[in-house]
Amino acid sequence: MKPTYFLMIPALIFFCLLPCRLQAGEPDYALLQKKMTAEQIVGRGITDQRLLTAFEKVKRHLFVKPSLRAHAYDDSPLDIGEGQSISEPYIVAVMTAAVAPTPGKKVLEIGTGSGYHAAILAELVKNVYTIELIEKLGKDAQTLLDSLGYKNIHFKIGDGYKGWEQYAPYDGIIVTCSEDHIPEPLIKQLAVGGRLIIPVRYSSKVQELIMIEKEEDGELKKTYLIPAQFVPLIRGNEER
Ligand code: SAH
Repeated sequence: MKPTYFLMIPALIFFCLLPCRLQAGEPDYALLQKKMTAEQIVGRGITDQRLLTAFEKVKRHLFVKPSLRAHAYDDSPLDIGEGQSISEPYIVAVMTAAVAPTPGKKVLEIGTGSGYHAAILAELVKNVYTIELIEKLGKDAQTLLDSLGYKNIHFKIGDGYKGWEQYAPYDGIIVTCSEDHIPEPLIKQLAVGGRLIIPVRYSSKVQELIMIEKEEDGELKKTYLIPAQFVPLIRGNEER
């Protein structure tokens, strides 16, 4: 081989890689999202194909502020402003799977936050009702989800402790903030055969994610799911 060829090879490699270098800075979100689903969700035992498809479709990086986008698919909770946070993908998946989200169902979510969990649910069930106490978060989430074309998510600003009686009963209720007891209005608004998923706080450090099922005879069956660490449910101004 002539010596000039030796010089051409590194030059060729440099020019081939140049476009990649110019695009550096913006991560390959699609790749990160696939990796997240494979490692954090399938890798930890959740294999329901409809649920996995939802996690591969909803772009989590759109639900966090631009400065956190590169971390949107990390195995960790993320700040969503106003002192609130979005749970790590695995926790969202555990809660979603627990509610048994089959296509005809109606699910109530307490704590809209960024709107990410509502979007996942909206991919899986017929209607999602979501309540947020902090107006800015609720309105921003609604703007985003409307712009993404979701027509089956219904929004309310208010104290989710009281549920949303107008559309009750719900086949599933997901509470994404912790309380030290199970709110009575949510139990009342749960359909027979329905499931309520809620992080119960026993102390400032100890929380458990639990599932309550309302049985035919009205009895409540409690199942422990996993340890949890959720932001607290804040009460509105009204009395309990
Ligand atoms: N599901 C959200 C994560 C929410 S974090 C997501 O996917 O991003 C918990 C949310 O519960 C916060 O946004 C917080 O403001 C809200 N919250 C706290 N107390 C509430 C209450 N009483 N009623 C409704 N929302 C409440």
